[in-house]
Amino acid sequence: MAVYRGNFLYTPALGQLKVVERGWLITENGLVHSLTQRQPASAGPLTADFGDALILPAFTDLHLHAPQLPNMGLGYSEGLGGWLERYTYPIEHQYADPSYAHQLNAALISQLRRYGSLHAVIMGSTSAAAAADLLEQYRRSGMWAYVGKMNSDYPGYGVQNEQTAPSIAETVQLAHRYGGPGRVRYAISPEFVPCCSDELMAALGQLARETGLPVHSHMSEGESDLQLVRRRFPREGCYAGVYARFGLMGSGPSVMAHCLTSPEEEIALLKQHGSFVAHCPVCSLDLAGSGLPPIRRYLNEGIPVGLGSDIAGGHTLNMMQVIVAAVQISKLVVQQKPQLSPLSEVEALYLATKGGGAFFGRVGSFEPGYSFDALVIDDRHLGQLSPLHLSPAQRLERFLYCGDDRHISRRYCAGRELTAL
Ligand SMILES: [Zn+2]
Repeated sequence: MAVYRGNFLYTPALGQLKVVERGWLITENGLVHSLTQRQPASAGPLTADFGDALILPAFTDLHLHAPQLPNMGLGYSEGLGGWLERYTYPIEHQYADPSYAHQLNAALISQLRRYGSLHAVIMGSTSAAAAADLLEQYRRSGMWAYVGKMNSDYPGYGVQNEQTAPSIAETVQLAHRYGGPGRVRYAISPEFVPCCSDELMAALGQLARETGLPVHSHMSEGESDLQLVRRRFPREGCYAGVYARFGLMGSGPSVMAHCLTSPEEEIALLKQHGSFVAHCPVCSLDLAGSGLPPIRRYLNEGIPVGLGSDIAGGHTLNMMQVIVAAVQISKLVVQQKPQLSPLSEVEALYLATKGGGAFFGRVGSFEPGYSFDALVIDDRHLGQLSPLHLSPAQRLERFLYCGDDRHISRRYCAGRELTAL
């Protein structure tokens, strides 16, 4: 048992912020047992008193690309095709070098930890060895992750990244090696329909059915890629129709990044299969030619949504900035679609914690039974010289807009404090 005191803030439901000022949180075996305003009679000695700091559930980054860490902030005026060809694929090919990949993987885990993204869904490159290295390093980190080697054997954008047979064989091997229970597991990761052959998608769908492992991919990132899908699969007519046909949706959990231009039938399939949407607002703002994500529409439909940094389509791993961008872009969406109300900061925080966290299970909240994955926010610097007396909820809002990793003073995962990597 461990006993913590502090100002606990979390979002048990979309749009609902719960604040327990100077509360008592008790954990057992790394799980939240109780969070109360008054000291429970059964509480043992205090494990840590966080004073006036804010305690938040750790973030979930629901979509990012490991090999693109060095590529952040480059080539955003190119549009998706040019950016993939001139920036992304060349740097992803470097990731096949084992010592380079090892270094880069260590840097990525360290940065995600710094920004408090203690749960992450990560796509690698086509290199199986680099994905295995990332899985191994993650297992030593104490954090949560789904990691997959990217499958990309069809020259939808003019480049064929790998051959079909080895792509399937390597993926089957990784899925069996890293498919067991635990905080770090394999995710089947086809790049997206335009870059996957029918044979590959059928084999990955079968693997999803056999193993129950989740599928992590992209969907309807813009009109141009949707057109490619429609031309090649006129009968299915959309990404979700293709994924469903090949068993990549509906066999187990799935998470689809973007869904910017999803037609009605795609939205219906997402809902039917309980697929998560990874909303990546920074990428939508950064990469030329992206559409405006109608996230409120998905939330109204009851489709589970989380937030992703999508580095390097997005330029930052800072989840606070992703939360703010989700709010900002939702205000732009309203200009086009006045029926879709903008997201509040509290709603965006929900997406970054419990919303996306649901992909991992009971993470992202301080309700009983949830993994105690927490960030201690020391925001004293942000309030210097301020004559205002702010409530914890107002301080949370200020931290989301103005804070960064320097204001996260401690990180806990499954009840254990993470030390620097
Ligand atoms: Zn992506």
